[in-house]
Amino acid sequence: MFMNAKEMVEGLSQNPELHDARVLEAMGRVRREAFVPAQLRKMAYADRALPLEHDATISQPYVVAFMTTAACVSRGSRVLEVGTGSGYQAAVLAEMGVEVFSVEYVEELARKAFSRLEELGYGNVRVRHSDGRQGWVEEAPFDSIMVTAASEDIPPPLVEQLREGGRLVIPIGNDSQLLKVFVKTPRGLEPEAQVPVRFVPLRRVPDRG
Ligand code: SAH
Repeated sequence: MFMNAKEMVEGLSQNPELHDARVLEAMGRVRREAFVPAQLRKMAYADRALPLEHDATISQPYVVAFMTTAACVSRGSRVLEVGTGSGYQAAVLAEMGVEVFSVEYVEELARKAFSRLEELGYGNVRVRHSDGRQGWVEEAPFDSIMVTAASEDIPPPLVEQLREGGRLVIPIGNDSQLLKVFVKTPRGLEPEAQVPVRFVPLRRVPDRG
């Protein structure tokens, strides 16, 4: 069992595809134990996903590292995250100096994640309670968009709200899922990479019209 973030990151750094030192350094600075339920704290630095309330899960550290690397963010980037959950992914981005806009459909999760992030000093994260399939149009365009729940399709508003040259990282599928990475070009989305993953579903929220 890993004891702290530094040891967790040392383990992750053995994977050649996790080649971005800035990502691993950021993950080494985030106290993951502050984002997992109290009774699971002793597993906070194991490389595994852990259950949260409301059927959400905090993603496996490997997957967080992979997605963050694939999103190609840098200091000052504006990033949309769909599925705030615990706020852990948002904290990793914030540690990298990213301006984070995170959307969560479950109101209680959004509220708790926001106050947790605020307490931990992550002032560069904004959290909104709304349907992430619609993106966050008032804050668009984004330099990268990361979806942390599995979707059957690519929600069109997310493509519209991504700047040209920006990356969309999104798990696609139901029972078997592929994490897909696209770059937006003048011709549309072009695939860059894909790996098998396991996420909770991105809910289709009925239009309240
Ligand atoms: N990134 C999170 C893990 C998220 S788990 C972390 O680091 O902890 C997936 C999250 O997506 C859940 O919290 C779930 O409530 C949320 N979700 C599912 N459908 C959604 C939707 N349509 N819009 C916004 N959030 C959604």
